Amino acid sequence: MKEISILGSGFSSLSAACYLAKRGYGVTVYEKNATPGGRARQLSQEGFKFDMGPTWYWMPDVFERFFADFDKLPSDYYALIKLNPAYQVYFGKDDTVKIEDSLEKIMKSFERIEKGSSLELYKFMKMAQENYDIAIKNLVYRPGVSPLELITSQTIQKLDQFASTISREVRRRFTNRKLIQILEFPVLFLGAKPSQTPAFYSFMNQADFGLGTFHPVNGMYSVVEAMVKLAESFGVRFVYNAAVTAIHVKSDMATSITVNGEDVKTEIVLSGADYHHTETLLQPNYRMYSEDYWNRKIFAPSSLLFYVGFDKKIENVCHHTLFFDVDFDIHAESIYDKPNWPEEPLFYASFPSKTDESFAPKGQEAAVFLIPLAPGIADSEKIRSVYFEKILSRFEHLTNQKVKNHVLFKSSFCVNDFVSEYNSYKGNAYGLANTLFQTAFLRPKLKSKKVKNLYFTGQLTVPGPGVPPALISGKLVSELIQKHHNITIESN
Ligand SMILES: Cc1cc2nc3c(=O)[nH]c(=O)nc-3n(C[C@H](O)[C@H](O)[C@H](O)COP(=O)(O)OP(=O)(O)OC[C@H]3O[C@@H](n4cnc5c(N)ncnc54)[C@H](O)[C@@H]3O)c2cc1C
Repeated sequence: MKEISILGSGFSSLSAACYLAKRGYGVTVYEKNATPGGRARQLSQEGFKFDMGPTWYWMPDVFERFFADFDKLPSDYYALIKLNPAYQVYFGKDDTVKIEDSLEKIMKSFERIEKGSSLELYKFMKMAQENYDIAIKNLVYRPGVSPLELITSQTIQKLDQFASTISREVRRRFTNRKLIQILEFPVLFLGAKPSQTPAFYSFMNQADFGLGTFHPVNGMYSVVEAMVKLAESFGVRFVYNAAVTAIHVKSDMATSITVNGEDVKTEIVLSGADYHHTETLLQPNYRMYSEDYWNRKIFAPSSLLFYVGFDKKIENVCHHTLFFDVDFDIHAESIYDKPNWPEEPLFYASFPSKTDESFAPKGQEAAVFLIPLAPGIADSEKIRSVYFEKILSRFEHLTNQKVKNHVLFKSSFCVNDFVSEYNSYKGNAYGLANTLFQTAFLRPKLKSKKVKNLYFTGQLTVPGPGVPPALISGKLVSELIQKHHNITIESN
C-alpha cells in the first residue's frame, strides 16, 4: 500500500482523501487545528453555533456528483432545505429586494423594478445556463495542465464572452442600479471585481437564480462531517492538532514530513494547506513560485467576521441578507486597488437560526456578519470594534430595529486569524481570485515540477475558490496522483 500524507482537512483535502483511500492508498490527514473542515469549521458558544466560513450551499449538482463517485447521495448524510427567499438585498431604508426560489418568480420581481427586464433576464439566464453546462459540468473537471483543455468546440463559440466582462454584459442589458448589483453579486464568490471577471463566468448566475440556494440542516459543517465519515469508511486516519512544519526532500523526492517536531516517513505528500505556506515548508530550491510571483497575483478578499448571539429574534431580515446600500465601486477599490479599510463597507449578514432551530436557543438568533477586506491590511481589536459599531448602526437604521443592547456575545475573526489559524497568505479568506489570467492552466499547478511526489490541492490552485471547486480540486489531484504513482484504478 502506498502511504500518502495529506496536509490540512479543508474540503479539498477531504475530497482527495476519499478518492485516494477508495483507490487503495494508505491516507493520513494531518490537520493543525483541533477539528476538521479548515475554513468551514464550526464555532459553538453559549448554546449558539456558527459556520465560521462558507454559508451559501450553491451548485448542489457538484455535491451530488462527488457523493455519486462513492455510490452515495448527499441525503445519505445530511438534509437540504431550499431557501425561499434565497436571499434579500438592502439598497436603503425601506428599499429592499427579495430573491425568490425560481427564475419565474425572480423575473416577475425584475419586471416590477425595470420594465422589459424580465425578458432580458430570461435571455441572460439562457446564456448563463449554457455556460454552466460547459464550465461546471465539464471544463472545471480538467486538471489545468495545458491551455488546450479550454479549447473545445463549445468554448470557441464563446470567445466574445472571454473578451468581455460580467460588468459590461450586465450593463449592456439592464439599466437599473439594483438589478445590476444583484446580477454582479454571484461572481464576487470568484474573488475578483465583476469588471475583471469574464462574461463567460455568468455560470455563477445560473448557480444563483437557476439552481438556487440551499441550507444543509446543522449547517455547512454537516458536509464536513459527511466527508470525514466517508473518508473514515475507506480507512483514512485523521490526526488533529498536527501542524506540519517541514517537508523533507532527497534527490527530488519528498521522503518525510515533520509533524509536531517528529519526522514521519511518507511516499507521497499532498497539501491542501494554502499553497504559498506549503512552499515555505520546503527548502527554497524546491519551491516553484517566488515571493514576487505571489505578490503579483490577485487574491480573493480577506474578511472581517463577527459571530453574534442575540437574545431575541431579529426582524426584517432573511437567512441570507446583503447590505448594498453604499457604493460598491468605492468599497471594491479599497479591496483591490488601494488596499485600506473601507470608509463605508458593504456587508453580508446570515441568520441561520431563521431556518434551522439547532443554531440558537429558542427565541434567540445566531448571526454572522461579514465585511470583505483587502488581504494583508493592518488588523487590530480596536479597528474591529469600530467596524462592529459602524455596521450595527447601519443595520439598526436599515432594518428598523434596535439590536445593540441585545448582543449576548460576539466573537470576531479577521486577517490576523486567517494567518494564525490557517497559515493563509496575507490572511486571504478564499484563495486566489478567478480572473481570466488566473484561470485553469494559468493557476498554480496541482503537481510540483521540482519535487516528483509532491502535490497541491485547494482554493489557490485548480479550479479555484469555493466549496464546490474544492471538492473538484480534490478529485483532480487524486487522478493526477494515480496517473503518476501507478496503482490499480477503479472506474468511477
Ligand atoms: C468567510 C468565508 C466565507 C465563505 N463563503 C463561502 C460560501 O458561502 N460558499 C462557498 O462555496 N464557499 C465559501 N467560501 C470559500 C470556501 O470556504 C473555501 O474555498 C473552501 O472551504 C476552501 O477549502 P480548502 O480545502 O481549499 O482550504 P481550507 O479550508 O483553508 O483548508 C486548509 C486546511 O489546511 C490546514 N493547514 C494549514 N497549514 C497547515 C499545516 N502546516 N499543517 C497541517 N494543516 C495545515 C488549515 O488549518 C486548514 O484546515 C468562504 C470562505 C470564507 C473564509
